[in-house]
Amino acid sequence: MRDCIFCKIVKKEIPADIVYEDDEIAVFKDINPAAPVHLLLIPRKHIETFFDLDREDASIMGRLQLAAVRAAREAGVFESGFRLVSNCGRGAGQLVMHIHYHLLAGRPFEWPPG
Ligand code: 5GP
Ligand code: ZN
Repeated sequence: MRDCIFCKIVKKEIPADIVYEDDEIAVFKDINPAAPVHLLLIPRKHIETFFDLDREDASIMGRLQLAAVRAAREAGVFESGFRLVSNCGRGAGQLVMHIHYHLLAGRPFEWPPG
């Protein structure tokens, strides 16, 4: 979609530090990291929010979660763990309207999140 930052990143129209990509998903470093490891995991397909998911998108969402596990292993946080979060909708803090998971790791986390 035009004017979507994350669509532009997967199309290489704007630069990003991409750590993994395939035909369906991409994983890249957050530009403003909130933890020593802060990756964003996105489908290539432009889907605005979880409310816009179709049944056919189930496998893509599963692949994002598997990619998170792989990225966490590669980041060496198997012991300490990681947090996988997604803000759905403006009220929950979603600023970029293209579905993404944040993978955060490398520091202690509190619960519940703010
Ligand atoms: P949200 O608030 O939508 O859940 O998170 C959006 C995330 O995207 C933020 O953590 C923000 O730092 C990140 N972000 C916004 N613009 C860019 C960009 O151009 N490049 C990268 N790598 N991350 C971005
Ligand atoms: Zn998009």
